[in-house]
This record gives sequence, structure tokens and C-alpha cells, in this order.
Amino acid sequence: MNRWLGRLRARLQRPPPAIGEVLWQQALLEFPFLPRSPSTQSLELRALAQQFLAGKEFHGAAGLAITDTMAVAIAAQACLPVLGITAPRRGLDWYGDFVGIVVYPGTVRAKRETIDDNGVVHQYHEEIRGEAMHQGPVMLSWQDVAGAGQSAADGYNVVIHEFVHKIDLCDGAADGCPPLPAGFMGAGSAAAARRLWQDTLHRAYRDFSDRLSLAERFGGAPVWLDAYGATSHGEFFAVSSEAYFVNRPRFNAEFAQLTLLFDAFFNPPGSAD
Ligand SMILES: [Zn+2]
Repeated sequence: MNRWLGRLRARLQRPPPAIGEVLWQQALLEFPFLPRSPSTQSLELRALAQQFLAGKEFHGAAGLAITDTMAVAIAAQACLPVLGITAPRRGLDWYGDFVGIVVYPGTVRAKRETIDDNGVVHQYHEEIRGEAMHQGPVMLSWQDVAGAGQSAADGYNVVIHEFVHKIDLCDGAADGCPPLPAGFMGAGSAAAARRLWQDTLHRAYRDFSDRLSLAERFGGAPVWLDAYGATSHGEFFAVSSEAYFVNRPRFNAEFAQLTLLFDAFFNPPGSAD
């Protein structure tokens, strides 16, 4: 992360380095789901992405050299989910538990281990495109980040996926329910807000899982969205948020109740249109 890091080392006492016009326009062109320029939202996203770049450290893995274009592409997409949230945390406060972003050229083959009900340990390998853990760095596959403009039609976006996990993890649990603001959607208490969120998300999750089973086992209509979303509530929140941010019309057609829920939480640019 050569040039950004060079600038970052000298950043103390200075405002965050500005994202140049050419770099920013390039990112907007590459990722059409970002707010169009000129607009207030685009200016706000650019300012937030600048702060993000000043506070995070990028590391290229497996020989990948991080360029400014890569850093801006990741920063802009990572900031999109938190652009409109003002409570219970604001903007980059959602991402305050980590500094490092590790970028691989492509997917990574990771060794996994599970223990079954009989106590037997099973080891297997999994191809991962990204990873986020509580108080740890975010890992991303550059190939997937770079393809986000094309994969938006499928509702797929690895950066938003991993950073929504970070939002979900702010209360320590990857359970698909982020910390919610007081009075969320008219809820009278924090417990009621959480119940409301879970009722809506879990219902959509069950429906998605059912449709997926129908498609996979009985040749039903193929489902839109990554099947990985059916593995847990936490993954469903991350997978559905990707689609919500990069392909709102299709997402709303498929998951209207979630659009309302997510609008109330993310308060994204353009949601009132
Ligand atoms: Zn995930």
C-alpha cells in the first residue's frame, strides 16, 4: 500500500489526504451503485472515504501491490453502508475496532474445522472471498472487489458483505442484528426494537431458505442472492445487505419488508426517492 501508506505516515496533524478527482470519478464509473456525482451524497461519501483511508492500513498479500485505485475502490464501497447511519453510532465509528485491511489477488483456500455431535473433528477447505471478525482485520479478494460493478446485477458485493459483518459485530455477536437506535421504527424499548428487527429478518431468512431448498431439491425457480445467505442469520444479513446497496430495485421486488427495515436502519442516500 505504498503510496497511501507513505502519505499516511506523515498524516499526523494534517487533514486526511484528498482523493483526487480522477481517482474518484474512476471509482464512480467502475461502481455504478455509488451515489452519482455531482450530488451531496457523492461529496459526503468522498469525504468519508478520505477519512477511512486516513485511519486504515492496507496490506497486499500473496505479492499484491496495493494501488491508490484499489484503496479508493475499497474505501468508497466500505463507506456506503455507514454513510447515512447516525445512531446509535455514526459513520466510521462503526468500523472503529480495527485498522488493517488485507487484500489478496483472488480467493483464498482456508482450512476449516468443525466438531460434529459425536465429538468427531472434521477438517475441510473452503474458498473464501472475504472475511471479517470482531476486533480483527478485514480480508478481501481483489478479484471480487474489482468485479463489483458487473456482479451488482446478481446482488453480489464482497466489500459491503464484510463491512456489514463489522456493523453486525459491533455488539460482539454475528447474529444478524446490529445495535439499533432508540425508538427504532417506533419501538418503545431496546428489546422491542431488537424483536422487531429479528422478527422481520428471520421471517425473510426462513422464506429465502425454503425457496432455496425448493430450487435445489425439487427444481423450483432459482433464487436470487447468494445461497450462502441461508447458512445463518448473520450471513443472511450480510448477503441481503449487499443486494440492498448494489441493486435496490431488484432487492425491493424480492424482499420488500427488508427494504423497509434496512431503510430505517441504514437511512441510505436516495431511499426517500
Ligand atoms: Zn459472511
